[in-house]
Amino acid sequence: MKKKRQKPENIRVRCPYCGRMARLHPASYVYGSDNLDSESYLYVCDGYPDNCDAYVGAHKKSLLPKGELADGQLRNKRILAHRALNTLLEEGYMTKKSAYIWLQNKLCLREKDMHIAKFSLYYCEETIRVCNELAEWHQKRKGA
Ligand SMILES: [Zn+2]
Repeated sequence: MKKKRQKPENIRVRCPYCGRMARLHPASYVYGSDNLDSESYLYVCDGYPDNCDAYVGAHKKSLLPKGELADGQLRNKRILAHRALNTLLEEGYMTKKSAYIWLQNKLCLREKDMHIAKFSLYYCEETIRVCNELAEWHQKRKGA
């Protein structure tokens, strides 16, 4: 079934941290006016910046949110999860494609959910844990 395209002003997004509504703002609202990417938009929690720091990017064409709003802690965890996975690639343990399939199986995720940018704290932490485990296993093997 094809979804009808929603008008951005009709899209209602609630902040999962504080329950306030999130509104569509130009990315410069968060990143500052020297942000050159004038086409991008974010859903920013109404509590931003004093009471809440949650936001999420919007898709360029549809202006639909790319996922749930994320706060600073979650954004940081996603960066760490990416880094842990990248370490495996940089060390040459896996190709990017096989690493994503491996991780997807390890975390029991469906292919469509296999996006670190959408991971919850739990999945970020699991990613970091299994990547570190594998890196350690390789290092022990090298040392033996
Ligand atoms: Zn909030």
